[in-house]
Amino acid sequence: MPDLMVAGGGPLGLATALYAARSGLDVVVREPRQGVIDKACGEGLMPAAVAELETLGVRLEGHPIDGIRYVDATGVAEARFRNGPGRGVARTDLHGALREAVAAAGIPVEHRPVLTVEQRVDHVLVDGERAGHLVAADGLHSPVRRRLGLDARSRIARRYGQRCHVATPPWTRFVEVHWSAAGEAYITPIGKDRIGVALLSSQRRPFRELLDTFPTLGPRLDGLPLSKVRGAGPLRQRSRRRVAGRVLLVGDAAGYVDALTGEGIALGLAQARAAVAAVAAGDPARYERDWRRVTWRHDLLTQALVTATRHRPVRTRIVPAAAALPGIFDAAVNQLARPA
Ligand SMILES: Cc1cc2nc3c(=O)[nH]c(=O)nc-3n(C[C@H](O)[C@H](O)[C@H](O)COP(=O)(O)OP(=O)(O)OC[C@H]3O[C@@H](n4cnc5c(N)ncnc54)[C@H](O)[C@@H]3O)c2cc1C
Repeated sequence: MPDLMVAGGGPLGLATALYAARSGLDVVVREPRQGVIDKACGEGLMPAAVAELETLGVRLEGHPIDGIRYVDATGVAEARFRNGPGRGVARTDLHGALREAVAAAGIPVEHRPVLTVEQRVDHVLVDGERAGHLVAADGLHSPVRRRLGLDARSRIARRYGQRCHVATPPWTRFVEVHWSAAGEAYITPIGKDRIGVALLSSQRRPFRELLDTFPTLGPRLDGLPLSKVRGAGPLRQRSRRRVAGRVLLVGDAAGYVDALTGEGIALGLAQARAAVAAVAAGDPARYERDWRRVTWRHDLLTQALVTATRHRPVRTRIVPAAAALPGIFDAAVNQLARPA
C-alpha cells in the first residue's frame, strides 16, 4: 500500500506528489484526465512560487514579472517585487513541466477518479484500495471535500473568472490589473509573443462584452484575435476543516477566496509542503494548524480587497489611492509575494 495517495493531478496535486517523493514517501497520483490540462488561470506565478517550484526541480519557461501595476482611467500605480521576480507561465507549460518532474521522479499517475473514501484506523480505503493517507487536491469544486461533508457555505457575492490568450508581444514586465465598474482584467506576460488576459467579475457576461468595459485596454487589444476562452467559478469556496482523519485538503480543494491577488499557486505549494510534512511525521491532524498559519495572511488581504472593492465609491478610488500611498501599496503587494 502506498504511504500517500493524491486525488488530483493538477499543479498542486503533482507538487504534493513531488514533496512526498522527496520526503521518501511512496506516493501515487489519481487524475481522471489524460495529458496536459488547461484551466482558467491568470498564469502569474508569485516570486515565492517560482522559488518553490525551482526547489522541486520544475523547469519554468514563460516571462519574468517584476511586480504588479494597477491601472484605471485616472492613472497608474505600481509596486515592484522586492524578493526576486515572479514569472508568467502559460498554464499548459506549468502543468507540462510538473508532469515531466513527476515522471522523472518515477511517481505513478493513474488516470481514474477517486470515487469513494472510507476511513480506517491505520489507513484509508480509496475505492476499496488501501493507502496510508489521502491528499485531496481535486480543485475548486473538490468532489472528495463534498463527499466527506467538508463543504462550507460562503456568504459573499459570487465571482467568476475567464481567461484567454492573445498573440502579441507583452508591453510590460508587470502583471497589470485594470479596473472597471464591472470587474478586473489581468494582463500577464507569458512569453515573448503572448499575453494572458483574465477577467474577474460578479457579472456572468461573455468575455468580449466584459472586455469592452475596460477603456484602458481597448486601444491595446483592439482587432487582435482572442484564443478560446476558459471559465471558472464561483471562485469563493470554503471548507469546514482541512483534515478529516487520514484525509488532508490541499490547494483549491481546501478553499479559495478569489483570484484578485493571484497567489493561488504559491499558497497551494506552501499547503502541499505542510501537508506532506504532517503525513511524514505521522501526525496528519497538525496540518490543520499549519494550513491556517500559511493561509491566513493571504486570505485576510484578499478578502479585505474583494469586500471593499464591491462598493463603487471604493472601487473607483482604488487606483488613485494606491498611487497616492505607494508605501502601503508596495507593502501589500510584497506581503502577498513573500513565502507563506
Ligand atoms: C480566473 C483565475 C485566475 C487565476 N489567476 C492566478 C494567478 O495569476 N496566479 C496564481 O498563482 N493562481 C491563480 N489562480 C488560482 C490557481 O489557478 C489555482 O489556485 C490552482 O490552479 C489550483 O490548482 P489545484 O491543483 O488545486 O486545482 P486544479 O488545477 O483545479 O486541479 C484539480 C485536478 O483534480 C482533478 N480531479 C477532479 N475530481 C477528481 C477526482 N474525483 N479524483 C481525482 N482527481 C480529480 C481534476 O481533473 C484536476 O486536474 C487563478 C484562478 C482563476 C480561476
